[in-house]
Amino acid sequence: MGVEKMDKSKAIKLIQDLSNARGISAFEDEVTGLFKREVADTGEITEDHMRNVFVNHQFNNGERPVVELDAHSDEVGFMIRAIKPNGQMMFVNVGGWATVTIPAQKVKIQNRNGEWISGIVSSTPPHFMTAEERTRLPKTTELSIDVGASSAQEIEEIYGIEVGAPVVPDVTCEYNEQTGLFLGKAFDNRIGTALLASTMKDMANEKLDVDVVAGLSSQEEVGDRGAEVVVRKIKPDLAIVFEGAPADDTVMPDYLIQSGLRKGPMLRDFDSTIVTNPHFQRFALDIAKENNIPVQRSVRTGGGQDGAIINRYNGAPTIVISVPVRYAHTPYCFIAYKDYENALELAKNILRKLNAQQLSKF
Ligand SMILES: [Zn+2]
Repeated sequence: MGVEKMDKSKAIKLIQDLSNARGISAFEDEVTGLFKREVADTGEITEDHMRNVFVNHQFNNGERPVVELDAHSDEVGFMIRAIKPNGQMMFVNVGGWATVTIPAQKVKIQNRNGEWISGIVSSTPPHFMTAEERTRLPKTTELSIDVGASSAQEIEEIYGIEVGAPVVPDVTCEYNEQTGLFLGKAFDNRIGTALLASTMKDMANEKLDVDVVAGLSSQEEVGDRGAEVVVRKIKPDLAIVFEGAPADDTVMPDYLIQSGLRKGPMLRDFDSTIVTNPHFQRFALDIAKENNIPVQRSVRTGGGQDGAIINRYNGAPTIVISVPVRYAHTPYCFIAYKDYENALELAKNILRKLNAQQLSKF
């Protein structure tokens, strides 16, 4: 099949489009649509009812170890919980948010016709606050979303917004050619989604010693729910997870920086859900070294991702390759093109060297 490889301008466009796509957990349709278009002709593509997308590499023969490549497609956002008589809308968080980053943000709410309506997370103007209120953080339950309506009837009849409507930050991704940085939303995990698509495209015509199945999984941000279903269908012998991991270089002292912007993809050794198979991890680190790919290692004190679910299903050695995302789980995030490029090179070089004999050593 004639699949064109990624180049820099195509990759930049893909990352921007994926960042701009709107999709909280279970509402990933825009993201899966973009992804499927991108990987068209790289293999057999299927999608299940949970919005999990599977791509079978065209040279898979069912007789070799199966490598699952995972990325999750959802982003953190909100959902409308209730509409008050005055037209203000209560909401719940979908995924992990710190309340400090929510007030006064511009958001998009999807109405029943599929249109995206502009709104803001409302807060009390300082004029109506007491001195004490001005200095303390609001609770999420004190916040609401305002589209400018004055009654519940207007919300219903003019805006067409209903309880259960998905909400995302209203942010358009920018790329700065000079700095090589993207500024946008949802790089957790649209950068992983871009890496998954790019890997499948670049490897489409390569003959490997393993079968490769990409699984773009849904609903990671609400507890890795898509990955639980995906792993049961793929039944992998090995797995590589692509993630956008929170960068720590603005909050940690030098000696503790493990996911700094532009310092290379991060290979996770430990988080609260997985201890990475040390043999597979070493294999990946050696390949990075041989190919002069900068990498960072991380031992996290919290966190979790799809890799844990995959690893626990049948023990498949699993590594996590992450692009550092500054300000993950907030509306505005930075990532570096260079980190994407290095993560892609690392993944491709790992796939080229995997075979049944190597797997037996893990
Ligand atoms: Zn996340």
